Amino acid sequence: MTTIITGNKIREDFINYFKQKGHTFVKSSSLVPGGDQTLLFTNAGMVQFKDVFLGTDNRHYTRAVNSQKCMRVSGKHNDLDDVGRDDFHHTFFEMLGNWSFADYYKEEAISWAWELLTSLWGLDKSKLWVTCFKDEKGEIPTDEEAANNWKIQSGLNPKHIVYFGRKDNFWEMAETGPCGPSSEIHFDMGEEFCDKKDDKAHICGVNGDCRRFLELWNLVFIQYNRLGPDELVSLPTFHVDTGMGFERIVSVLQNVDSNYKTDLFLPLIDIVMKLSGQSVEERKKNFTPYRVIADHCRAASFLIADGVVPGNVGRNYVCRMIIRRASRFGSKIGLDIAFLGKVAEKVVEIYGDAYPELKKNRNTIIESLTREEKRFHNTVEGGLTILDTYMASMKNSGDRKLDGDHAFELYATHGLPLEITKDVLREKGFDVDQDGFFKAMEKHRVNSGAGKEFGPLGGEDSEFYSEISSQLEDSGSLETSGIIFDPYSSLSIETEILSIIKDNHTVTSISAGEEAEIVIGSTNFYIESGGQVSDSGSIFSKDGKGIFSVEKIRKPSPGMIVHTGTVQSGKMEVGQKVISSVDLKRRQDIQRNHTATHLLHAKLREVLGEHVRQAGSLVAPERLRFDFTHPEALTRDQLNGIENKVNESILDNYFINISHKKLDEALEEGATALFGEKYGEDVRTISIGGDIPFSYELCGGTHVSDTGEIGTFIITSEGSVAAGIRRIEAITGREAYRLIHKRVGILKESADILECPVENFKNTLNKMIDGRKVLSSRIHQFSKSAALAKYEQLKSNVEVVQGINLLTMQFKDIQIDILRDLADKFRNDFDKGIAVFANIDLNSNIQLIVTVSDTLTDKDFHAGRIAKSVSKELGGSGGGRPNLAQAGGKKIENLDQVLSEIKKYIN
Ligand SMILES: [Zn+2]
Ligand SMILES: [Zn+2]
Repeated sequence: MTTIITGNKIREDFINYFKQKGHTFVKSSSLVPGGDQTLLFTNAGMVQFKDVFLGTDNRHYTRAVNSQKCMRVSGKHNDLDDVGRDDFHHTFFEMLGNWSFADYYKEEAISWAWELLTSLWGLDKSKLWVTCFKDEKGEIPTDEEAANNWKIQSGLNPKHIVYFGRKDNFWEMAETGPCGPSSEIHFDMGEEFCDKKDDKAHICGVNGDCRRFLELWNLVFIQYNRLGPDELVSLPTFHVDTGMGFERIVSVLQNVDSNYKTDLFLPLIDIVMKLSGQSVEERKKNFTPYRVIADHCRAASFLIADGVVPGNVGRNYVCRMIIRRASRFGSKIGLDIAFLGKVAEKVVEIYGDAYPELKKNRNTIIESLTREEKRFHNTVEGGLTILDTYMASMKNSGDRKLDGDHAFELYATHGLPLEITKDVLREKGFDVDQDGFFKAMEKHRVNSGAGKEFGPLGGEDSEFYSEISSQLEDSGSLETSGIIFDPYSSLSIETEILSIIKDNHTVTSISAGEEAEIVIGSTNFYIESGGQVSDSGSIFSKDGKGIFSVEKIRKPSPGMIVHTGTVQSGKMEVGQKVISSVDLKRRQDIQRNHTATHLLHAKLREVLGEHVRQAGSLVAPERLRFDFTHPEALTRDQLNGIENKVNESILDNYFINISHKKLDEALEEGATALFGEKYGEDVRTISIGGDIPFSYELCGGTHVSDTGEIGTFIITSEGSVAAGIRRIEAITGREAYRLIHKRVGILKESADILECPVENFKNTLNKMIDGRKVLSSRIHQFSKSAALAKYEQLKSNVEVVQGINLLTMQFKDIQIDILRDLADKFRNDFDKGIAVFANIDLNSNIQLIVTVSDTLTDKDFHAGRIAKSVSKELGGSGGGRPNLAQAGGKKIENLDQVLSEIKKYIN
């Protein structure tokens, strides 16, 4: 028996093979696509090279090799249903690829693919088939070049070269743009693998849609640019983009019939089996939960390593949903403890060498999974019970589909993601109205005022601005690289007005009072990015007559920058020499907050731990806001510690070290890259802290030159923004001084009121509060003795009605417990008596205590009833026991009358 080649070795072989052929290894980009708001997750190897094909980005290499992390699961349309139910669908997968950017072409791509598969990996040549492009419409030339290159590969059966049309063998990025024919390599597993033998219409062959032929590798030859539906032009340079599904090639090379039987998944499945205590037989019978848990846990681990936390929208929702789905499938095989952390440990073990981010974030992955699992466990029972009742009533009514509102309710209040609701329903032969669910969700979002996570990319007007920049390029007034953008060197620069846009038209001049957009040859205004807001300022003519105030600045199309604002005086004209001047004070405030944000980030990690990651940031002139991952509220001590440390770093007056280097080098050195940011190959780094910096980030923002410029840093608030995400708001510099000044002022004024120095304020205040307590207890004592004296005085002249002693007394502003004492005393003094004690407090509320001697309560006299009827006339309420009751009211004007009428009750 031959030894089986491991998955890790296969990945390594692929990379090394192409490295030997002069390719540069490019690390997988994050699962969170940087700078592309239209894409939920990186879903193909080409995502990080898209800009190279579009010609908007350059790389120092022309050949690349990579293994890209990909996710294919999205909110509305996904094949998640298939994951776990078959052997080859995954949420997360790896894509191996080799790339040529205007370098080699079909000859090399084809012969290398053949050599790698057949010589290095030793695949049986007779089982390989290849496809080439032949246009069914006859408009685009047949790719004979590819076919001819295949014909010369030794051992490839010429009959195994087959042609397919646009759907299978022509690749396009979008409706317009780079495109070209592709050539696929398929592997014949053998006739016995055909799962459509019973289907009479089935033609068993390549692209025949059965399990016999597996597509291994897709080679795309980018040679055209599509300008419109019928217009295809040749590109000046040709590219190669290839993609090989990693899990699939591993299954073929390990000679197994399921991706889940490869060593990429088996160790995960083994650990699940061990935890569940099931036997191999039981596992075979119950394979779906195993597949789902292995797939979802692997995907969630990679997501968390890339900074995605479980949550309610977008990527965070997907992360939450797959964890919960894995957890529920776990409960189907008897796993009800938090178990995903254990599976994730294995994921880190298998993949940690190829993807070091897993190792680096090991603890965060395990903690996040476990926390989310526990959170789900706390609510899932309730949700499933309700779903059961829905199913019972659907059974009665004959409905097959659960309506969207109910499904959404299950998610919103019981944490059951749609996908789980669907799983449960389908297991019982029902379904769910998905469109209705999304409608309900949308309604909820609108009602709760929450925004959509993913808006459209760019403005609709980007074409208009591209047109302007082409015109400027043609006339020679603009470099092809676009407008010079340099917000870093000087806050005041000389430049020239290239274009003026008013109401979507270009104009030659604008005058005082007019609003417009101005394009200048180079700009020193910062454009909102990385959380830092845009600059404001002005553009004015060199003679100082024309002044244009800049309120907004934006990048409507690649290379184009426009300044929006109003002409304050004079006239602005195309061709005019101008000074572009950034508002200095505002910029300084922004810079203080930006550098302070870096200090805060570093100190948060120092105080709370390495799991802290930036999850959002705002750097404005008046404040900074920083969102980060952390499971619980910060204590006062932690907040004080962080604030102190930041202020110490400010006083240490560190130099801010800014350099430019290669992305790989910076990451190697340990620079923090921010989640969701897109980085080019060349990056700018900011480090603070001297030789051994304590803060080292990739950042394109503007900063102070020394930390001392920040002045002071004050945290103004700390709170929660979403599960597992905290937010700190803070101020610096002038804003911090203003706050300190204001608060010190209040303190001084307060001390003046107490006529003491500020230093003694707290003591003096405490003493006053103590003194006040003593005083009020004395007042209480005094009113009590006064009330008692008055009672003793009246006691001897109580009125007697039908043999019953009757006493009513009125007081002002004494405590109710004194009235109770009097009532007790009265019952002691009189065998047969009824008394009512009334008090009017400082707020003009009446309080009454009614008491009846115990000997009378047997004879149908009831203090509670008396209190109740009395209170009615006082406009309040009352009640109590037979011998003691209480009442209240507001109508002071009725009080005398009510007291004098007590006699009536006795009669
Ligand atoms: Zn077949
Ligand atoms: Zn920054």
